[in-house]
Amino acid sequence: MKRPVGFMGLGTMGSPMAANILRAEYPLTVFNRSVAKTAPLAELGARVAPGPRELAHASDVIIAMVTDAEALDALLWGPGGAAAAMDQTKVFINMSTVSPRYTRELSERLAPSGVSFIDAPVSGSRKPAEEGTLIIFAGGNRERVGELTPLLETVGKKVIYCGEAGQGSMMKMAINLLLGIMMEGFAEAISFGVKGGLAEETIVEAVFAGPLSCGLYRLKSAMFRQKAFPAHFPLKHMCKDLKSVIDTAYENGAPIPAGQTMLQLYRAGVGREWGDLDFAAIYKVLEHLGG
Ligand code: NAP
Repeated sequence: MKRPVGFMGLGTMGSPMAANILRAEYPLTVFNRSVAKTAPLAELGARVAPGPRELAHASDVIIAMVTDAEALDALLWGPGGAAAAMDQTKVFINMSTVSPRYTRELSERLAPSGVSFIDAPVSGSRKPAEEGTLIIFAGGNRERVGELTPLLETVGKKVIYCGEAGQGSMMKMAINLLLGIMMEGFAEAISFGVKGGLAEETIVEAVFAGPLSCGLYRLKSAMFRQKAFPAHFPLKHMCKDLKSVIDTAYENGAPIPAGQTMLQLYRAGVGREWGDLDFAAIYKVLEHLGG
């Protein structure tokens, strides 16, 4: 008999992840702040909890996939919060992207309850979430992560153990720093070439012909071609993550000059009200700067 799982946060990522857990035949209870988003999961067979605490009571393993630290605090310690129902018989897995510092504080705050805490943010956006091919960066007790790997593999194709609680978030920061820089680099090379009279498709062809070609660029080039940026990973989330990267770099004394510039550029996109577009819309920011 598989352990009962509770899933809180049914947004772009959480809904398909919860559906994959259900398809793998784990008994599933869900909660979402906006109740309407629970309906498709209920149709697939999930129980809907009226609040986070009821979800935690009904589940052995509680997963959260919400926007940020504020949302996690609300679900854990807000009215009817889940933390009051957590004890040594339960596991809490945070899969939301939050800073390593917040994750370590969360781990310390939960410790007196005896609950096992796992830090497990993911890499990959909506499509990998639907296909169950996310990459999971796990932090926390190694043995516990090992025990939970079959469950984590219902939503991801690979679980990478990164160290103690907080190190999953640290890895996620490193990967999203690279992601933000790579996306901007591709957009910048194209906008630079176009200003110099090259055809956009010829620049893309040149990139794809050599070792600079990569899955990310292949995935996003259609957005540049069509000048349409439907959100897979929203630009506002890249901005939030880069802010955490910069805070973390300051705490650790890490030099991230490109990361600092990236935050300014992605932030300009949010300022132009492009935050809900895909983060590939950094291209629009560069076009705007170029006049
Ligand atoms: P999303 O579609 O915006 O969904 C956010 C979820 O958080 C919703 O369930 C929302 O509830 C909930 N929430 C927000 N504020 C809340 C609050 N104060 N109290 C309770 N619930 C709250 O976000 P997403 O794209 O699924 O992303 C979720 C997390 O995964 C984020 O940390 C993001 O950085 C990370 N991530 C995203 C991607 C991606 O490609 N989208 C990829 C990797 C990682 P409502 O429905 O009621 O608003």
